[in-house]
Amino acid sequence: MVKDNEEQKREKLLDTFETEEDVLSLSLRPSSLNDFVGQRKLKENLIIAIKAAKKRGEGLEHILFSGPPGLGKTTLAHIIANEMGTKVTATSGPAIERAGDLIGILTNLSEGDILFIDEIHRLSKVVEEFIYPAMENFQIDFIIDKGPYAKTIKFNLKKFTLVGATTRSGLLTPPLRGRFGMFFHLDFYEPEELVEIIKRSASVLGIHIDEEGALEVAKRARGTPRIANRLLRRVRDWSEVKADGKINKDTTEKALNSQGIDSVGLDAIDRKVIQSIMDFYNGGPVGIESLAATLNEEVDTIVDVVEPFLLKIGLLKRTPRGRELTPLAYEHMRISQKSDRSREK
Ligand code: ADP
Repeated sequence: MVKDNEEQKREKLLDTFETEEDVLSLSLRPSSLNDFVGQRKLKENLIIAIKAAKKRGEGLEHILFSGPPGLGKTTLAHIIANEMGTKVTATSGPAIERAGDLIGILTNLSEGDILFIDEIHRLSKVVEEFIYPAMENFQIDFIIDKGPYAKTIKFNLKKFTLVGATTRSGLLTPPLRGRFGMFFHLDFYEPEELVEIIKRSASVLGIHIDEEGALEVAKRARGTPRIANRLLRRVRDWSEVKADGKINKDTTEKALNSQGIDSVGLDAIDRKVIQSIMDFYNGGPVGIESLAATLNEEVDTIVDVVEPFLLKIGLLKRTPRGRELTPLAYEHMRISQKSDRSREK
């Protein structure tokens, strides 16, 4: 079926789910706070805010979630809508190119709806200025005509809740940040929490995995539920083809080793980052721009995806002069190369 222009524009602007990962992650997404594992403090505060807003019969204040990708920011936006009994409209900072796109979205919102904007730190300046009065007074200013005939018309919006997500809260401008009423930072998950998530996903997908297998997936999932779910599917594929389809510690280790994912969850790109700092910068310190250029990778990929976990497990540290490897990084690389060699024998 040929999609008309309007439909294509809408799909680009609003989140639609097309890849296998998108569709699966939708089915694995918990729909209530009860099923949302971990992030205990955040959950407690959110439950209070939701209960209080419901009691007053009001919408929620605007909420900002920050933290590395795959930790549950989008999931939480959907859960909030569910718990509040309202709808969610999801889009992202880079998808809203013009102020007109934003006006289209805002004017379609109903009372209490959730507007979820992923990567909100990437909103353009023009669009961001439109969002200020919308967040503050639920109004937008249309400017019609140009020059001396220009007129501003105020348009009243329904009282919606903006839920913003960002991997880099430091990049948010102060005026935008100041318009949020609640801020929550999501941390990496503990292996026991990931085990719970993996077991739930396995039961949704009809996968047999024992406790030790789940723990092994969890240990290699970089503290991230999205990665845990992805590894679970890769281990399932491997064990269906190479074994009897049942997953235990042994099948998990073999499957993930064969994918280049090591005992603490580092993959090829993590190791490439560490190896480059060793080989070209003598362990650091090295500026992020130089490192990205050496690796031929985007700065954003290193800062958002690679670096947070390496910092968390203490292989890398940030100093005023740049990124530096810790002795633990050398130790880890030595052990992982040794086990690579023994696997090759
Ligand atoms: P983000 O928006 O932070 O990148 P998502 O909300 O898209 O992350 O989460 C990625 C996937 O991980 C989701 O499909 C969901 O299934 C799973 N997930 C994330 N957090 C949790 C959690 N606390 N409990 C269970 N599953 C989770």
